[in-house]
Amino acid sequence: MIVARTIDQVRDARLNLKEPVGLVPTMGALHRGHLALLKTARRSDQSVIATLFVNRSQFGNPEDFSAYPRDEEADLAAFEAAGVDLVFMPTEAELYPKGITATVHPGRIAHELEGTRRPGHFAGVATVVAKIFGLTQPHRAYFGQKDWQQTRVIAEMVANLNIPLTLTVIGTVRDSDGIALSSRNVRLTSRERGAATSLYRGLTSAREAWDAGTHAPTSLAEIVSNVISQEPLATTAYVEVRHALTLTPLSKTIPPFVIAGAIEIGGIGLIDNIVVGNGLTLAEELNG
Ligand code: AMP
Repeated sequence: MIVARTIDQVRDARLNLKEPVGLVPTMGALHRGHLALLKTARRSDQSVIATLFVNRSQFGNPEDFSAYPRDEEADLAAFEAAGVDLVFMPTEAELYPKGITATVHPGRIAHELEGTRRPGHFAGVATVVAKIFGLTQPHRAYFGQKDWQQTRVIAEMVANLNIPLTLTVIGTVRDSDGIALSSRNVRLTSRERGAATSLYRGLTSAREAWDAGTHAPTSLAEIVSNVISQEPLATTAYVEVRHALTLTPLSKTIPPFVIAGAIEIGGIGLIDNIVVGNGLTLAEELNG
C-alpha cells in the first residue's frame, strides 16, 4: 500500500495503478461502514484508492471540527487490511495552499435538510470531493447511504459538471441496536447512545406504518418525531419525507422516497434515513 501525502505523490502513484480504479473518500476514524465501501470497491475494481482528510470547510462549527475523532495509525492499518492500493492523506496546507478560493456551488438540493442545519456544509463537501476526483481520476466512487443527501449533491455535481465516473451508493451499516455507524458515535456516553437509537427506531416505525398503508408524508414524519420525543436526551433537528432522488417535498409517498432525520444529543448531531425504492443502494447484505 502506497501512502501519498502530497499532490505530486498521489498523481505519480495514480499513473501506475491498474484500471479501473475505485475511490473511497473518508474523514478517517474508520468503522464497518467505511469497510463496506472499501470491500465493494476491492471486489469491483482493479485498484482501490482511499482518501483520509478531515475537511474543515464542511464543518460549520469549529468545536465539532476539533472534536472530530482522529486515529491515523489505526486508519492506515484498516486501509491496509482492506486491500487498499493507494491512500491519499494530505495536510490542509497541501490541499489548500492558498486557502479556499474557487469553490463548487451546489444547487437547491444542498440548501435543505442538512443544508439548513449546517449552512455551507455541502459546498465544503462538493469542493473537496471535486478536488479529490480531479487528483485521483477514479472510474467509480463509493459513498454511503447514511449520508443520503450527500450522495444526491455529489450525483448532481457529477452530472452537471460532466465528471467522467460512476457513483455507487452502499447501504447503511448499523450496529446490533440499529444505530447507524458513525465516527461521531464514539463521542456519545452510554445513556446518550441509548437515546440515539430513537432515530432509527422512529424511522423503522414509519416504514412499518407505510407498509401498513399510512402514506401521508406528514403522518410518517410525525411517527418518527414522536419516537424521538420520548427520549429526553434527544432533540429532533428535522424529519423530512422527500423524493429520494430530487429531495423535493411530496404530497404522497410513492417510491422512490426517503425519510431523513437528524437529532442532536449532548451537542452532537446525528443523521439517518430510510430509502424506499428499488435499486438505489447496494444493500449491505450484497456486500457480504
Ligand atoms: P465520513 O468518513 O464520515 O466522511 O464517511 C466516508 C464515507 O463513508 C461516506 O461516503 C459515508 O456516507 C460513508 N459512511 C459513513 N457511515 C456509514 C455507514 N454507517 N454505512 C455506510 N456508509 C457509511
